[in-house]
Formats: sequence, structure tokens, C-alpha cells
Amino acid sequence: MPRAYLGLGGNIGRVKENIEEGLRLLRDSENVQVLATSSYYKTAPVGFVQQDWFLNIAAEIETALSPYELLALCNDIEQQLKRERLIKWGPRTIDIDILLYEGFESNSNKLTVPHPRMTERAFVMIPLQEIAPELIIKGQHIKDITSNLDNQEIRKLTDD
Ligand code: ADP
Ligand code: MG
Repeated sequence: MPRAYLGLGGNIGRVKENIEEGLRLLRDSENVQVLATSSYYKTAPVGFVQQDWFLNIAAEIETALSPYELLALCNDIEQQLKRERLIKWGPRTIDIDILLYEGFESNSNKLTVPHPRMTERAFVMIPLQEIAPELIIKGQHIKDITSNLDNQEIRKLTDD
């Protein structure tokens, strides 16, 4: 079965609970096996700045779903967690992105894989590196990508 990497994040409401619930819904799907999840990381908001900090994690899955079926599942979980899309890059209860899907590349608007902005975002790459330290993305080793992102503020969430 193909492997894929997902990025999950959010910044309103009970964010940690929303991400945990998102993971639970992924685990409940009979066509998805969650193989690994990263720690939770806290990051400063990007774009629209007057909002709470974000919480993000990365997950490694194995799935019998096609890339588009997986996207539909991610969107469905976002809907179940009542994501609000009022402002672009604004607050959201949960955002689930397909970062990578083994053996698949696409440039369509509906599904761009590898996710087009992932390599510029510490909040995507740092959690991903924790669970996939030897990953190669578009020909580049993940450690060489993250070494260029060390100006972005991101902190591992300690238990609270
Ligand atoms: P972002 O994830 O960049 O903050 P949104 O989550 O608001 O933006 O974008 C949602 C749209 O992005 C969806 O309609 C979906 O079809 C599209 N999309 C394109 N590529 C991907 C991907 N790799 N993962 C998830 N959604 C994607
Ligand atoms: Mg998204």
C-alpha cells in the first residue's frame, strides 16, 4: 500500500483536541493506517497576523485510498470538525493537507502534490522531519530544507 504524509494544524478553539479528533477519525477509516505521528509544534501565525498561534503535527500513513479519495477523506474530516473558511490563511479549527503521496505527483488546483508551499514552511517541515528524518523531497534531503528555515519561530509543545 502506498505511504503518504499529512500535515494537520489549526488555531482556534480547542486546537489540540481538534487535531486529536482528526487523527482519531483518520484511524477509524478502514482504508487508512496511521504509522507515525510527530510531536505537537507551536508556531507563530503567517499571513494574517492578528490571530492565535498555530499548532501543527505531521502524520505518516499507509492507505488503500487513491490520492483524490484521500483528499476527499481529509476534506470530510475538516467538515466534521466544522472548519471555517472566512479569511484566507485566517483562523481555522483544523486544516489537513496531503504533503506527499508515494509515487504520485500532481499540479492541479484541486490537488497539488508535493504540497506546493511545504518546503518554505517550518511548521510543516519540522514536524515532518521528526517522523521522516531521511526523506528526500523534490531531490532535496529534508535536513537541507529545514536548515534554511531556522529563522521561523517554532517550538515543540511540552505537556500541559
Ligand atoms: P492551505 O492548505 O494552503 O492553507 P486550504 O486548506 O484553504 O489552503 O485549501 C484548500 C484547497 O486546497 C482544497 O480545496 C483542496 O482541493 C486544495 N488542495 C490542493 N492541493 C492540496 C493538498 N496537497 N492537500 C490538501 N488540499 C489541497
Ligand atoms: Mg489545506
